[in-house]
Amino acid sequence: MPLYYAVDIGGTKVEVAIGSDRGELLDKKRVPTPELGRDEAVLDGLSDLLQSLARPGDVAGIGIACPGPLDAIAGRVLNPSNLPGWHQLAITKGLSERLGGLPCYLENDATAAGMGEWRWGAGAGTRNMVYVTVSTGIGAGIIAEAQVVRGVGDNAGELGHVVVDPQGLPCHCGNRGCLETKASGTAIGREGERRRGESPRLLATEGPVTSVDVFRAFEAGDRVAAEIVDGAAHWLAWAFGTLTNLFNPARIVVGGGVSENGETLLSRVREKMAPFAMADLLTAVQVVEAKLGGDVGVMGALAVAMDRAAR
Ligand SMILES: [Zn+2]
Repeated sequence: MPLYYAVDIGGTKVEVAIGSDRGELLDKKRVPTPELGRDEAVLDGLSDLLQSLARPGDVAGIGIACPGPLDAIAGRVLNPSNLPGWHQLAITKGLSERLGGLPCYLENDATAAGMGEWRWGAGAGTRNMVYVTVSTGIGAGIIAEAQVVRGVGDNAGELGHVVVDPQGLPCHCGNRGCLETKASGTAIGREGERRRGESPRLLATEGPVTSVDVFRAFEAGDRVAAEIVDGAAHWLAWAFGTLTNLFNPARIVVGGGVSENGETLLSRVREKMAPFAMADLLTAVQVVEAKLGGDVGVMGALAVAMDRAAR
């Protein structure tokens, strides 16, 4: 049974696991990202962490899921805004050298998560699906004709940075009015904070209003929170409708922190999609919740290791 190391890198935590080609996770560990330090220390820390996992057999490769932008061919992290100490880190080379030359593969985190959901989660059995993560940011992993769509620099699927309002708010990518500024968890929280004076429930929030506070107020029947959730749902419906017209997918699988509000949000998005997609394509697509939950990061990295090692 081939085993693989899986590494999921995030702005606040790094999770590592060892898993089989059947998608079973045999051991996993998690550390806060800053604990791994910068540059060479990151590589030493990751290598130690992987070697500390229980290893019931030989390991055939390593898959890494990391926020973009990155250079997957060169195995290099470029300059993700939430990983300031890792810029230009040659992560696959450094990790492979420290682990006896094991093949090591790097993938954009949303693409990796999409590969995990396609293989073992809510996209299983389809040949055409799009995974969308709605969290602090928004990203997509695209599977078309049973192939992972990576693009020329492995950065395809930057759905959150599709500009929907060129006069809109500045985005950390340098442009204005990206989808992320309208419908991400960050955007929902920011809108809640901006409108807190209009809502007794939001006004009672301690500290800055977050998307969690907005959804809580919404569930309690708050009118302002309902308008904010509807606003985000409108833009997600636009995005999902556009993806439907572009890729004619069987499923759009929605994961990420904001989607923990599951049906509350998705039912609204589905209702709003009709004006943004052609009727026949809309009939063919199901918008569903992701299935892998908190393991999606390492399961995605595991899928990356298997997929790339098989080529
Ligand atoms: Zn942007």
